Amino acid sequence: MSLHGAYDPNNIFAKILRDEIPSVRVWEDDHVLAFMDVFPQSEGHVLIIAKQSKARNLLEVEPEVLARMTAALQRTAKAVEKALRPEGLAVMQFNGDAGGQTVFHLHFHIVPRWADREMKGHGHAPMADAATLRALADRIAAELD
Ligand code: AMP
Repeated sequence: MSLHGAYDPNNIFAKILRDEIPSVRVWEDDHVLAFMDVFPQSEGHVLIIAKQSKARNLLEVEPEVLARMTAALQRTAKAVEKALRPEGLAVMQFNGDAGGQTVFHLHFHIVPRWADREMKGHGHAPMADAATLRALADRIAAELD
């Protein structure tokens, strides 16, 4: 899918928001949801999405939604750092097929990094089991300010 086009209300994150498919939620409010990436590129890979916006990518998002998302991104990243003590944090966001995007509902990735652990490739990581993700989500949620 290119940078331009219509929002698909049946994309996988829209289904997660409607609880039509399962997800491992870290925290949420009326505007944003933080949940575990089911194909984590490292331990503790979290995704941040907006609940109401139909923005597919960074170019389309309303500035006030983006402000809420970045605040959520920082809040979650701080909790990830406290919970998992990574040595680094990669924050990623992809736009359009050619930009590496695979789910066309705007999202940010938080990927904890350790110098001696390789980060798995984007779109090439194995699926994690739900219990492992739930335990990580609980540890992260416990550190939220
Ligand atoms: P992107 O390629 O930037 O669009 O990122 C989409 C992300 O969604 C990838 O990191 C996938 O691993 C992740 N993903 C795909 N399906 C699910 C799902 N059902 N639950 C959680 N994460 C998912």
